[in-house]
Amino acid sequence: MAFTDHIPLYFLPEGKRDPKLAMGEDQFDDYLKEVESLRREFSSLIPIRLGLEADYAEGHEEALAGWLARADWDLVLGSVHWVAGDWIDAPGSAARFDREGVGPLYAEYYRLLAKAAETGLFDVLTHFDLPKKHGHRPREPLEEAIALFDGDRIEHRAATDRHEEEEAPACGAHVAHDGVDRREIGERGQSDAREQRQRRQRD
Ligand SMILES: [Zn+2]
Repeated sequence: MAFTDHIPLYFLPEGKRDPKLAMGEDQFDDYLKEVESLRREFSSLIPIRLGLEADYAEGHEEALAGWLARADWDLVLGSVHWVAGDWIDAPGSAARFDREGVGPLYAEYYRLLAKAAETGLFDVLTHFDLPKKHGHRPREPLEEAIALFDGDRIEHRAATDRHEEEEAPACGAHVAHDGVDRREIGERGQSDAREQRQRRQRD
């Protein structure tokens, strides 16, 4: 079982960090302690993984790396919710698509997601289809976005691409379900991001 609570909204000014959307900075250490205590309590029954859903926000990469350096994560989910200066998935975000255009918002979302992949900080990219949350669909195929995720560009970043498995684990749920231990997770490709996080920590 993997816990992947949401990283504090480190990339927003303090007054804009809505406590309903993510844990507060003052809750972070308690979260680590709680998962660790569950890991110990249930060690004979079920493996407990320490994870985090971590926002990628352009220009805040170093701050993010700093947060990720505060624990040895089994699993870091990378996500993009903040697109072109606002949430793309909040209840009030639907109006943005009328104002700003469906195509441009989709394009910006995937540009940021590709940048997130390039940081190498994440084991898994989450909700690839988030812009459709309010029912908006692009009229044209997203050729540019597809090209961003095509070929070598993120080949070495993705946790699953380089490991030929019969059933490619596209998300962290795989890790959570099959009871592999931490070493095995590394062998399955999760170590790329972990190494990258540790390297940043050392530098
Ligand atoms: Zn999310």
